[in-house]
Amino acid sequence: MHLQHIQQSFTPGVKAPDVHNPARWYLYQGDRLIVDERNGAPAIPTATALDMLGLAAERVEYLGVLQDEQALHCFSGTMAEGSILPPGFAAHDLRSLFGQFSDFEIGLAGRAKQIAHWDRDHQFCGRCGAPTEMLTEERSRRCPRCGLTSYPRISPAIIVAVTRCDGEKPRILLARNHRFPVGRYSVIAGFVEAGETLEECVRREVKEEAGVLVGSIRYFGSQPWPFPNSLMIGFTADYAGGEIVLGDGEIADAQWFTSDALPLLPPKISIARQLIEAFVANAQAGAAT
Ligand SMILES: [Zn+2]
Repeated sequence: MHLQHIQQSFTPGVKAPDVHNPARWYLYQGDRLIVDERNGAPAIPTATALDMLGLAAERVEYLGVLQDEQALHCFSGTMAEGSILPPGFAAHDLRSLFGQFSDFEIGLAGRAKQIAHWDRDHQFCGRCGAPTEMLTEERSRRCPRCGLTSYPRISPAIIVAVTRCDGEKPRILLARNHRFPVGRYSVIAGFVEAGETLEECVRREVKEEAGVLVGSIRYFGSQPWPFPNSLMIGFTADYAGGEIVLGDGEIADAQWFTSDALPLLPPKISIARQLIEAFVANAQAGAAT
């Protein structure tokens, strides 16, 4: 399971070593990741120092150690918008690299994206406006004037596969967001509000977006989703009543689907897709017995 892969092979850290062998550099220009395409396929730029690659960053952050065939220190960073890349380097939206990089590599690049953007966006204190300082004993930036400390912002969001077994075949509730590519449906998702439990959020989102009530809720798994800084917390839930009524705003359509007649689905790397595939596996196992 790639969801655990980062924990197995990557050890986060906040203080860069004084000296290191060639390191990996996850640089972002806006939302786009800089990749080295000098050997054809895109790769994360790797060198002892950035200037050896002809690259320059406005700021860099230490991420930790990747345990690969050798131990590789990893850094994130941001490049100035509009700065010219050396020949053989390109900037790509992380989503466009799904499938070209392993899920593990995408996970690391997503981690880098969140750290780099947090650092970029918290150079000044949100309370008093003074320049902040990066701490080295924990992942935070602190204001020397008023003491306010900022941590990387992580926005929890629930994602839930609502299923029902009251018909001939098991069905799953999938919805189409207006922003989705044409024809794509996915499971219900939404941000957790301040003061809300995850379970309350599941019930509220399903009710708001599709007008449906859910019964028991079970934890499925979680996935960082760095667009820009979500932590998706996945659940399955049993349908408990109500007809589909679309909420105003985000949802263009919602329907109950059987496993043998699914619409276009989200990318394989996403926990949304894993929730749907788990439903399909269960439905087919049920059909076989
Ligand atoms: Zn301050």
